[in-house]
Amino acid sequence: MKSKSARPLRRFWGWGLESDELLPTEIAIIQGMMARLGIARRTLPTPPTESEFSLPAPRITPPSSLEDTFSDTPHDRLSHAYGKSFADAVRMWNRDLPNPPDWVAFPPDEQAVIDILDWAGRENVAVVPYGGGSSVCGGVEPAVGSSYRATVSLDLERLNYVVEVDRASRSARIQAGILGPDLERDLRPHGLTLRHYPQSFQFSTLGGWIVTRAGGHYATLHTHIDEFVQSVRMITPAGVVETRRLPGSGAGPDPNQFIAGSEGVLGVVTEAWMRLQDRPTFRASASIRFSGFAAAVNCVRALAQSGLNPTNCRLLDPAEVAWTGVGDGRSPTLVLGFESADHELRPWMKRALELVRDFGGEYDTAAVERSMQAAASGADDEHRRGAAGAWRDAFIRMPYWRDPMVGAGAILDTFETAITWDRFDDFYGGVREDVEAAILQATGRPGSVSCRFTHVYPDGPAPYFTYSALGSPDGDLASSLAAWREIKLAANETVTGRGGTITHHHAVGRDHRSGYEHEAPPLFREALAAAKARLDPRGILNPGVLVDPVGRSVGITGALAPHNP
Ligand SMILES: Cc1cc2nc3c(=O)[nH]c(=O)nc-3n(C[C@H](O)[C@H](O)[C@H](O)COP(=O)(O)OP(=O)(O)OC[C@H]3O[C@@H](n4cnc5c(N)ncnc54)[C@H](O)[C@@H]3O)c2cc1C
Repeated sequence: MKSKSARPLRRFWGWGLESDELLPTEIAIIQGMMARLGIARRTLPTPPTESEFSLPAPRITPPSSLEDTFSDTPHDRLSHAYGKSFADAVRMWNRDLPNPPDWVAFPPDEQAVIDILDWAGRENVAVVPYGGGSSVCGGVEPAVGSSYRATVSLDLERLNYVVEVDRASRSARIQAGILGPDLERDLRPHGLTLRHYPQSFQFSTLGGWIVTRAGGHYATLHTHIDEFVQSVRMITPAGVVETRRLPGSGAGPDPNQFIAGSEGVLGVVTEAWMRLQDRPTFRASASIRFSGFAAAVNCVRALAQSGLNPTNCRLLDPAEVAWTGVGDGRSPTLVLGFESADHELRPWMKRALELVRDFGGEYDTAAVERSMQAAASGADDEHRRGAAGAWRDAFIRMPYWRDPMVGAGAILDTFETAITWDRFDDFYGGVREDVEAAILQATGRPGSVSCRFTHVYPDGPAPYFTYSALGSPDGDLASSLAAWREIKLAANETVTGRGGTITHHHAVGRDHRSGYEHEAPPLFREALAAAKARLDPRGILNPGVLVDPVGRSVGITGALAPHNP
């Protein structure tokens, strides 16, 4: 048996299914990008195969009562050894696997989760909860330090049902292991949607979104999944924590928020009641060009502070426009959109475009009008055309394109943050400068750093930086990884040092832990460690992430571990 997973088999080494293929046009795009970066080879590299890895035998035997739940097939162990960050990809392409899980468990129900945690606690086995494995900060790598007997990756894929729908309160009870597309498929017959679309939607789960406080579809107002969590149920080694279903509550610190963002260190989220939306029927969108980035930023600030709350308000700086090939490939571009299930959006768009004109933004009036008419007639084509459509296509396909480029020697990575408006200008310039300098220092060659806003608030934007560099012209992936480490540490340092958050929505995991320690007040971290000690007294849950278990010093593990060369 290749895998005990019941899902279509995923590539263990990268993004997508084993059956996915690149289109010839995409291969040409990737080859063009490789040539521009200075990569010597012209053909795409051959992905790793399972037989190229020699996995050590599992260090422990699971209890016979749970035998069906556990898998040690090479495919399952390999596909749970890493998440999907640059460092994960490059280590896979380099056939470098320091921390494969001893076992992968696929519990069919909550009782099995409880049994696995009981067994792991007794046997000193570290348990790494696993949703879709799309973590880009080392959240699922079983790099747990040396004080555990073995590691188990606990995959929630069998908890994948929409269990109950409450139409009156527009909410549903949903199991944590469900993937984005399955969740939306099951809500559709009810005319409802969660409308949470991270870029990783296809391969990430409700439970993963909740515990990483993922950022989704809405650029303003309901930016994080937290807004949609009505109540949540979490299995911990000390018992079950289940919060009450309430539309709102002012009773003390919010237990939902305590669980959201816990990244698998406090317990295993098995299900949640989620607040849903009616499916939108009205839409309006516009692609706006600016002659300068400063005017564009001021315009976005005005929009964010206007109370119009656009659904989409993504500003691309000139480097990002060039990188994604959007619009004229030069001018800062704002992708602006509104949607509603209830009302026509002409007045909102009209007022937003007045603000846009105040800041010198230019757009195609006829295309905006067509977008509203297309939505009203049920035809969505207009929303798929133009700069917005081009950006969306690149957005969805980029993870597929990244893998072969990484295998050929490119460094391609992103980092994201948030900062108040008063500090944005200095921050943006300073971060770009520092990361460009780090790329030059680490690789000996200049790279490119671009930025877009993924989310915006009345008090500040969430800038999302993408950088590309030549790690190694001839595909020496150990050099790529070493250079990436230097750049990543510099990015963590400049973002937090200049007053931004270490993460707006990608989570802390292992790779952002030093930034989290810089950002979260020391006494708060002590309180969190004390809460962990109460819920996870033996410290078996996801060691290395967020805070050390009391009595064990795990520290920084994974891709940025200090002992790495
Ligand atoms: C191409 C790409 C695009 C991305 N785009 C976005 C984006 O737009 N917005 C965004 O917010 N993030 C994005 N991410 C990051 C990632 O998808 C999110 O962090 C996502 O929420 C992780 O969900 P997952 O189910 O894959 O969780 P995993 O990666 O499996 O796990 C993430 C963390 O949560 C823990 N965990 C998972 N499930 C549970 C559970 N049921 N109970 C307890 N702990 C659990 C894990 O131990 C780990 O610490 C992107 C990643 C990639 C690769």
